[in-house]
Amino acid sequence: MALIVQKFGGSSVRDAERVFNVADIVTSKYREGNDVVVVVSAQGDTTDDLIEKAKELNPNPSKREMDQLLTAGEQISASLLAMAIERLGYPVVSLLGWQAGFTTSTAYGSARIKRVNPERISAELSRKNIVIVTGFQGVNKYDDMTTLGRGGSDTSAVAIAAAMHADLCQIYTDVDGVYTADPRKIPAARKLDVISYDEMLELATLGAQVLNNRSVEMAKKYHIELEVLSSLTRAKGTIVKEVTNMEKMLISGVAKDDNVARISVMGVPDKPGYAFRIFSKLAQKNINVDIILQSIGRNGTKDISFTVEKDKMDAAIELMQSYIETLGATGVIADDNVTKVSIVGSGMESHPGVASDMFEALFEANVNIQMIATSEIKISVLIDKEMGPMAVSAIHAKFFEQIGQ
Ligand code: ADP
Ligand code: ASP
Ligand code: MG
Repeated sequence: MALIVQKFGGSSVRDAERVFNVADIVTSKYREGNDVVVVVSAQGDTTDDLIEKAKELNPNPSKREMDQLLTAGEQISASLLAMAIERLGYPVVSLLGWQAGFTTSTAYGSARIKRVNPERISAELSRKNIVIVTGFQGVNKYDDMTTLGRGGSDTSAVAIAAAMHADLCQIYTDVDGVYTADPRKIPAARKLDVISYDEMLELATLGAQVLNNRSVEMAKKYHIELEVLSSLTRAKGTIVKEVTNMEKMLISGVAKDDNVARISVMGVPDKPGYAFRIFSKLAQKNINVDIILQSIGRNGTKDISFTVEKDKMDAAIELMQSYIETLGATGVIADDNVTKVSIVGSGMESHPGVASDMFEALFEANVNIQMIATSEIKISVLIDKEMGPMAVSAIHAKFFEQIGQ
C-alpha cells in the first residue's frame, strides 16, 4: 500500500465527462489498496472567467477580495469530483485549503505556503476516505483565504506530497509529459522520459507552463519525484527527479516567455556607481530585473538596458524617468513588443558550441538578437515578439530535428 498524491489541472476536470474520467483514475488507484489524496484546479477557464467578472465590476479590485473570489473556482471542482466519486460508490471527502492545513504568507494573490499540517487529511485517510483538496489556496494569519499565484495547484500537490512523505506525486494534465518544446506549438517536439529538477525549474521559469516553477523548486528541496502525465491518454509520462551526471541531456528543451518588456536608460555617465544606482532604485520598488545589457562607453556616456515583467513596465519607466535628471542621463525608452526565447540543458556546461548553434539557427531564420543572457544550463535571447514562434521552431529544428538524432 502506498500514499499517492494526484493533481488534476483545469482541462482534466473541464466538464462532467472529464470529472468522471478523473474519478475513474482516482478510484482505480484506491481499489488497489492505496491511500489517495487528490488536488484539483478550477474547471476549464473558470479562473480566467472569474477574473473577467471581477474586472467588469471594478477594474482595480483589492487583492483580498480577488482571493475570496478565485478560491471559489477550486471549491467547485473539488466538491463536484467528490460527488462523482460518491456516485461510483467510494468513500470520499473534499477539503478546502484551510481545512487541509495549508497556512500561507499574507500576500494575497501570490501567497507562499508556510506550512501544511496534514492532520485532517491523515484522519480522513485513516477513515478510508479518498481525500480531495482544493489546489492553489490556503489561509493566512488573519484567517483570510489566499491564493498562490497562477498555476499554483501544482505547488499545492507537491506540498502535500512533501508534508506527508508520499510515495508518488503525479501531475495529470492535458499533454502526456514534458516535451522538448510546447507540443501544441511545435508538432515535432519530443516527449522526455526523464528531466532533472534543475532543467525543469529553468524551463518552467522560462515559460514552459506545464509545471509551475515553485512546484519544481519545492519538489527539488524535499526530494519529491514527480510524474507529469495525461489524464486523457493515460500513457507513461515524464519523470522529474535528481538526475546523475551520466544521464545529462545536452539540451532538454526550448521555451518562450512573452511576459517581458525591455527598458533602456540612455546617455548614462560612463563612471563607476551608475549601474548600482539604477538597479538599487529598481530593487527598492520591488521591480525584478532579468537580462541586463550595458553598452561600451562612448563620449563619456553609455546606455543601460534591462528587462522586467510586462506588468512592471509602466512602473519601471516612471521610476527611471523621475530619476534621469539626478542621474544625468538623457532619456528612457521602453518596448514590450519583445519575447524571450531560451534553451535549457545541463549538458551545455561541458559542450562548447551550443550558443553558436543557437545563434546560427536564429541567423538562418533571419531573427535579430537584441539581448543575450547565459547561465551554466541556459541561454536566453530577447527578440522581436513577432519572430518568437519562428525562432522557437528554428532552434528546435537545429537541436532536435537533424538527421541522425
Ligand atoms: P493544467 O491546467 O493541467 O495545469 P497547463 O495549461 O498549466 O495545464 O499546462 C499544460 C500546457 O503546457 C500544455 O497544454 C502545453 O501546451 C504547455 N506546455 C508548454 N511548454 C511545454 C512543454 N515543454 N512540455 C509540455 N507542455 C508544455
Ligand atoms: N486555477 C488556478 C489557475 O488557473 C490554479 C491552477 O490551475 O493551478 O491559475
Ligand atoms: Mg498548470
